[in-house]
Amino acid sequence: MAILPILTAPDPRLKKKSLPVETVDAGVRQLMDDMLETMYAAPGIGLAAPQVGVLKRVIVLDIDREDVKTGPLFMANPEIVEASDDDVIYEEGCLSVPEHYSDVARPAEVRVRYLDHEGNSQEMTCEGLLATCVQHEIDHLDGILFIDHISSLKRNMILRKLLKARKEKERDEAEGKAPAKAQDPEHAL
Ligand code: ZN
Repeated sequence: MAILPILTAPDPRLKKKSLPVETVDAGVRQLMDDMLETMYAAPGIGLAAPQVGVLKRVIVLDIDREDVKTGPLFMANPEIVEASDDDVIYEEGCLSVPEHYSDVARPAEVRVRYLDHEGNSQEMTCEGLLATCVQHEIDHLDGILFIDHISSLKRNMILRKLLKARKEKERDEAEGKAPAKAQDPEHAL
């Protein structure tokens, strides 16, 4: 397994639509395993393949809270087949939008169809943080970030700050300074 570099916005690869995988073969399984390791190292609770520069419809998740414990979940070609009418609001963040958070409303419950790590077709009903997270990750596969769900004013402000932070990080790295600490994993989707 390997830890892969995570792309941050604004990056054109995060805005692209990812392609379905034909089968879950050894290459896709390797990608899933590397993504899980990358997500744990970040740390975060969800990661989509385009965040590591791979435009394939693959996501990984692992939520470990008192109310929701999923263990590692691998999903290829995830698809929402049913969504509830009622929404929940969660303060989302993203490993590709570091240190910025915003309330996003999404359906409170969704049913997802996907291929698992072995390539078997599965369906799962997701609620609570898992529902939010799975929808956030599927958005990534369509080139949509959580900041695309908020006002353009706030989005542009965040993108400007990210560019500034990236320049500062590059300067700090050139000067050999230690990186800043990671964000709260419950908001790193
Ligand atoms: Zn994200």
